[in-house]
Amino acid sequence: MRVGIIGGGQLGRMLALAGHDLGIACTTLDPAPDSPAAQVAPAIVGAYDDRDVLLGLAEVSDVVTYEFENVPAESTRFLAGRGMPLYPPPEALAVAQDRLAEKTLFTEVGLGVPTFAAVDDLSSLREAIAAVGLPAVLKTRRLGYDGKGQAVIRHGELAEDAWRSVGEVPSILEAFVPFDREVSVLAVRGRDGATASWPLVENHHEDGILRVSIAPAPDVGPGLLVAAQAHAVAVMDRLAYVGVLAIELFQSGEGLLGNEMAPRVHNSGHWTIEGARTSQFEAHLRAICGLPLGGTDVDRPAAMVNLIGAMPPDERLLALPDVHLHDYGKVPRPGRKLGHVTVLADDPDALQDRVLQVSRIAADA
Ligand code: AMP
Repeated sequence: MRVGIIGGGQLGRMLALAGHDLGIACTTLDPAPDSPAAQVAPAIVGAYDDRDVLLGLAEVSDVVTYEFENVPAESTRFLAGRGMPLYPPPEALAVAQDRLAEKTLFTEVGLGVPTFAAVDDLSSLREAIAAVGLPAVLKTRRLGYDGKGQAVIRHGELAEDAWRSVGEVPSILEAFVPFDREVSVLAVRGRDGATASWPLVENHHEDGILRVSIAPAPDVGPGLLVAAQAHAVAVMDRLAYVGVLAIELFQSGEGLLGNEMAPRVHNSGHWTIEGARTSQFEAHLRAICGLPLGGTDVDRPAAMVNLIGAMPPDERLLALPDVHLHDYGKVPRPGRKLGHVTVLADDPDALQDRVLQVSRIAADA
């Protein structure tokens, strides 16, 4: 099988590496000639909305996927409309690109969300504040990620500042949720409708960027896991989805609220490379190629620590046992995800110690 991947970031790189073992040849498409994926697999350099370039990718592919949410949905519709098998379906990408459509879909399939209202101008923001209450979070409907395009509103008189700070573009206002923790559910659906899910993951963010994921999330009762996995399957079934899907959730007590979904492999699933029977990257390729999905079970606790802004010295990290380093081959820049470390341990306490060690080394870089 030949897989075309729109996007050549670290996700494309790890998909291509997983494909290598399976004899699945991946080609990526990215505007940057030195993308992380171009260092490990053939790459086409070009714009995501250039139809000739997209057709060039289709020519060397049996199936096309994407690894980046901000690929224009139109580009995926263009290829799918020409009969190219393209997964996840363009509709899933379109929904994930619009927070209003995303929250509406979650609600329709029975996944609760924070109270929200659409905001198109300053007067509708004032109406939304009256409906949703304060504190609340104003988020642009499109092109927001890692906490960008967001403003927390604590006092009504600061509404105008918030509206300006998000760029006065179509947005939604969401109730601020005093959640206990953030978790994500990762699931995969095959071309035949079969599904599988990994254990729930606990995520820790700083400045809106994911820093650490712990898997399985500690203290998850069977009811919570079943509910999260059922929500993921409901979203996937509704979209006739094929591939890996991640949904980020807020947990309060035993309740879950949907925050956002990623129609692709996800940073909170990187630990699956070493920590699960089948990694999210392999499972995604299996799904889109029409192959059996593989097992998602986990033998030991795992964690993932993102390496952000600067790479720590390899020799310090690799001196630790059961630590696996992934370097994406990127030029360092503040706030940029440059790599990650997967940590495995025999029990949750040992895992926590090792995560602290790795985080300290990462912070020194
Ligand atoms: P997002 O881009 O929607 O994932 O938001 C980035 C981060 O902001 C989330 O991971 C949360 O930590 C925080 N956040 C987003 N929405 C809310 C909310 N409604 N209530 C509280 N915190 C939020």
